[in-house]
Amino acid sequence: MSSATHYDYLIIGQGLAGSLLAWRLAQKGRRVLVLDDGHATASSMVAAGLINPLAGMRFNHSPFIHHWLGDVAQTYHELAGLAGEEFLQWLDMLRLFRSPEQQRFFERQKGKKEIEDLLGARLEAENITQPVQAPWGGFEQHHTGWVRLPRLLEFLSRWLRTRGMLRNATVSWKELEMRQSGLCWKDIHASHVVFCDGYRSMHNPWFSWLPFAPDQGEILTLKPVSSAPLPDRIINGANWLLPVDDHHFRLGATHYHDRQDNLATQTGQQRLLQGMNKLLLYPEALEVIRADAGVRPATSDRQPFLGTHPQHRRLHLFNGFGAHGSLSIPWYARRMTDWLIEQRPLPDNADLLRHRNLLLKS
Ligand SMILES: Cc1cc2nc3c(=O)[nH]c(=O)nc-3n(C[C@H](O)[C@H](O)[C@H](O)COP(=O)(O)OP(=O)(O)OC[C@H]3O[C@@H](n4cnc5c(N)ncnc54)[C@H](O)[C@@H]3O)c2cc1C
Repeated sequence: MSSATHYDYLIIGQGLAGSLLAWRLAQKGRRVLVLDDGHATASSMVAAGLINPLAGMRFNHSPFIHHWLGDVAQTYHELAGLAGEEFLQWLDMLRLFRSPEQQRFFERQKGKKEIEDLLGARLEAENITQPVQAPWGGFEQHHTGWVRLPRLLEFLSRWLRTRGMLRNATVSWKELEMRQSGLCWKDIHASHVVFCDGYRSMHNPWFSWLPFAPDQGEILTLKPVSSAPLPDRIINGANWLLPVDDHHFRLGATHYHDRQDNLATQTGQQRLLQGMNKLLLYPEALEVIRADAGVRPATSDRQPFLGTHPQHRRLHLFNGFGAHGSLSIPWYARRMTDWLIEQRPLPDNADLLRHRNLLLKS
């Protein structure tokens, strides 16, 4: 077999997950080939890239939050050094309470030592200086920001391609042939395959037993059309508004659990604009210039799926990052690399083997 067609790892999907995993494996000297269908269903190309360590109504956090934030800073900084452009933008967030109940959730979190650096001052409605509607007040949140995901993926795509590590192709499961020595796809032979194909893994015959819970979402891009004051930080209430480059804003996001398409709809747009009307003092100052949609690769227990198929040691999954890929993928890409190369155990919460009983039932 010619070494030109032999790889240690064949990665399916060049979203944020496949890109960072390929990069980390290459740093460790492994021969990697990534196959991607031109981002046909890449949620990474749709996402706003928000970094928000305190998710949801109750401001919960992962026990790994400081590991994640450490790797966010380091990974995106390292990539910025390679590319000569910044991908990560730290920007504080103004979190708006939606009810008195949420004020109580905040007070409960406020006492926790491990997240005291994330929580800023509580603000009563009259002390909020951003041009927003905040009847219940809110609080300042730190270590938040956003990642320029499409630019980052463009850079990583170039980086991979110039090293012969990326090909444009749509992979059909049927074309993957398992042999004793590895796997074959057309003229390619690889010792291992890692699926980083986003929500489409739910249809993968080897991994469809896992409890995927795809979450379709729509997002708008807006531009100012008047000189009325607009926020200069991330605003997060029932919806969120993010100031991005070129004085544009992104407004998000909807969640539909019964759809798996990338169609932006009038209904979705109306819902988002109604949310913005309740968020801003001067919503008429913004005009929609673009609507996007995609499917978040979410899971039923809201933890990612990392690891190796229980019966096929050459098949692996690096997936299930839900709505928080920009924050968690950098750290998990290192954990996955350590697992693949050194068999260092994966974190229990993320190891797909936690669901192995479902395989027996399927
Ligand atoms: C509306 C919306 C808003 C979001 N906002 C945020 C946010 O603010 N912050 C955040 O962190 N996350 C956000 N997300 C989630 C984020 O997009 C994901 O967590 C993350 O990008 C997932 O990356 P991935 O690489 O696992 O999957 P993907 O980005 O979906 O990449 C999978 C890739 O594999 C390719 N592929 C699939 N199957 C095949 C095949 N058979 N052959 C070849 N190629 C294939 C796809 O085309 C794609 O390029 C949002 C998602 C949506 C939809």
